[in-house]
Parts: sequence; C-alpha cells; structure tokens
Amino acid sequence: MNDKKEKTILTGEVLITSCHHGPIEQGAVVIEGERVLECGKEDELLRKYPDALVEKRSGGLIAPGLVNCHTHAPMVLLRGMADDLPLKEWLEKYIFPAEAKLDRELIKTATFLACAEMIRCGITTFVDMYFFERQMAEVVDETGMRAYLGEGIFDFPSPAFDNIDAVLEETTHLIDLYKENCRIHFTVDPHTPYTCSSNILEKAGQFAKKHHLPLVIHLSETKWEVDETKSSYGKTPVRYLHELGLLGPNLVAIHCVWLEDEDIELLAKSGASVVHCPESNLKLGSGISPLAKLLDAGINVALGTDGAASNNNLDMLEEMDFAAKLPKGVGLDPSLVRAEEVFKMATENGAVAVGAKDIGRLEPGYQADIMVVDLDRPHLRPCYHPFSQLVYSASMGDVSDLMVAGRFVMKDYEILTFDERALLSKIKSLQNRPFWLKDGDN
Ligand SMILES: [Zn+2]
Repeated sequence: MNDKKEKTILTGEVLITSCHHGPIEQGAVVIEGERVLECGKEDELLRKYPDALVEKRSGGLIAPGLVNCHTHAPMVLLRGMADDLPLKEWLEKYIFPAEAKLDRELIKTATFLACAEMIRCGITTFVDMYFFERQMAEVVDETGMRAYLGEGIFDFPSPAFDNIDAVLEETTHLIDLYKENCRIHFTVDPHTPYTCSSNILEKAGQFAKKHHLPLVIHLSETKWEVDETKSSYGKTPVRYLHELGLLGPNLVAIHCVWLEDEDIELLAKSGASVVHCPESNLKLGSGISPLAKLLDAGINVALGTDGAASNNNLDMLEEMDFAAKLPKGVGLDPSLVRAEEVFKMATENGAVAVGAKDIGRLEPGYQADIMVVDLDRPHLRPCYHPFSQLVYSASMGDVSDLMVAGRFVMKDYEILTFDERALLSKIKSLQNRPFWLKDGDN
C-alpha cells in the first residue's frame, strides 16, 4: 500500500487537541482516512511518517472544529429582515409569515449560505432545527460538513409537514437513507412545550428513545413561557417535561434562561444537556442564562448561535466571547467561566449533547474535524495563550482552513466543495426581491 496517499500531516505554529491538555508548540496532526491517527510535535511526526503528505500552516493555530449546537440554518435568508422588536411581534408579524413562503429550492440556497458562513468561522458540525431537512441533508452532504438535522414539530402544520406522524415517517426514511453516511444524522425536534401538546411531546420522546436519537427542544427561553406554563399546568416547563418522562441523557434543552433551583437539579440529575445561546437571548431581550450555576451543577452545557435572524450571524468564535464575558459581568467576578471551559462548550460538550463519541477533540481514533486559525493577523498577535486567543480575540474570517472527516472543505480561505461566489450572487438577486413578497404581497 502507498503510505503517501493514505496519511496527511497537518502542521502549525501551535496545536490544541482539547481543553484537557496544554497547547503543543510546533504541533502536528497525522490524519489517516477520515480519522486522526496521532497528534504531537511536528519534527517527531515528520520523522515517524516520512512518506505522508505534508500540509504546513506556519502561522496556524490548529484546533478541533467547532460544534454549533443550535441553529436554524436557513434563517440566514431572514437575516436583518426585522430587528429590535419584542419576540411575539417579531415572530407573529414577520418570521412566521415569511417562513410560510419558504419552499424546497429556497431552503437549499439558504442552507448553502449558512454552510459557507459556518465553514468560514471554523464550524465543522451543526445541530439544526428547521423545515425541509431532507433538502438540507442533500446540501450538507455536498458541502462536506457534518450535521444533526431535526424537522420542527408543532401542534399545527409546519411549512413542510401537516403533523407529527408525517414528520416521524420522514425521519424514519431519512435515517435509513443516510445510515452509511458518517456526517449526516437526525434528531427529533418538538419546537417548545407551548407549541406542542403533551401528547405530541410524549410521542416525540418515545420515538427518540426507540431510535436512540437526541430529543431537541427550546426550553424556558422567556419569562413569558415560564409564567404561561405555570398558569396552565402549575409547574415550570422543566418540571412539566420531567413529569412527561422526557428528561434524560438524550434531551438537548435549548436556551434555559429562566430556571429555578429545582429545574437545575432536575436537569443535572437526568443527565440532559443544555445549549447556551447568549447572543440570541440578548438580542430578543429574553434574559441571561445562569451559565456559571449550570456548569457548577455538573450539567453538560454546549454552545449555539441560534438562527441568524436573532443573532444576526452564525459566528461561534464570537459566541464563545459572549459566553465567557457575560457570567463575569453578571456575577461581578472575572474568574467565572474561563476561556478553556467555553472552548470545551463549543467543541466536546456539543458532541456529548448529541451523543457523538468521536468528535470534539483531536485524539487518535477521533474524526479528523479540524480548523486552522491564521494567527498572522494584527488582532491575533502576540499569541501567548491560544485558548484566550480563540475565545476573546478571534472571529469570523480568521479561519484559513477547515477539514471535516479528513477532507479539506476550505483550504487557504477558499471553499472547495461548492462555488461560493456564484452562491453570493444568487443571494444578492434574492435580496433585491425578497421571497416573502413573491406573491405580490407587501
Ligand atoms: Zn432556536
């Protein structure tokens, strides 16, 4: 066998394998097929594998690719359509009517745009709740990214499906269709406890358990939601889900801004994961999640951007910055939630949330999902502490290379898997004639 074809060594100025180990100066990753074979010092690995292909990134900070644990990717098409509004008015007057006009083609175009943006900020995996996930899966496969896709479930028809039975049937087909594909996975996504009846929530929970899938739900996002659930059921949304039997290690609870102490205990005991989306919570005026308390309780907290309409970007590097700074300001304590902890949230905690055992770190046997941040930029020099640099200084546009499952999807700032320039010109033409006005509405 020809070793040269099979192994690649990616070398950089510094390598982060995970938050459990210190950075390696002049580090390198050996990649074989879709997986990491070995990590270590560049000179040693170059000697050990003399026939491997070598990819040198002299000013590169090599790190595990980021996991955006909550988004609604196609909402990039709604970026900036309506801002600075109360949540209810924003949703009912602008977002829902626009979403009702989305079709399969628009979803595909929007997913390409979201993937381009995520690739450019170091995201190798994203966890998505939206509509038309079949079309999204096709696009994600083409872009080379990794995704966990969930079709939104509601009491009422969604733009894609009439009811939960149709959604679960589609999910069953998709699982079968992608069973050999290591990059495309599916989740079960009841939208919220207040847009789904208890019957629907239980049905979704049972399906997720039977098929060993993550159960993804927005939970305790706003004070209104908690007040409403308390007045309808006499309990908090977390206790309500607990009594329906939905809390467990496969539960991925998005937001969790408004939690009582008992809610935190219930989530911790059940082994559920929480996804923190600080920028969306701030922009929609929902509040600030008690992140330090959740981490202290031992809850697995991942990080997500939420959709671009409430953020307004999918930049996980920026999201890490918010996640690290907010608890310090709120708790009047700059030692709360260190850069390494936030980096862990943005990588391996996201993997744990969806039950992925081989992503989120660069270690032998893990998937080769890798980002390279170009440190040769004014705002990234000098670099004394690579974790701090990633969390507090880096942002979208600093990522030069991205590899998913051992394949470069971006190399030297160029996306290799699709034509980004043609995509952007298509999006520009959509901008000139917004799709939600396509029936002559205004
Ligand atoms: Zn969301």
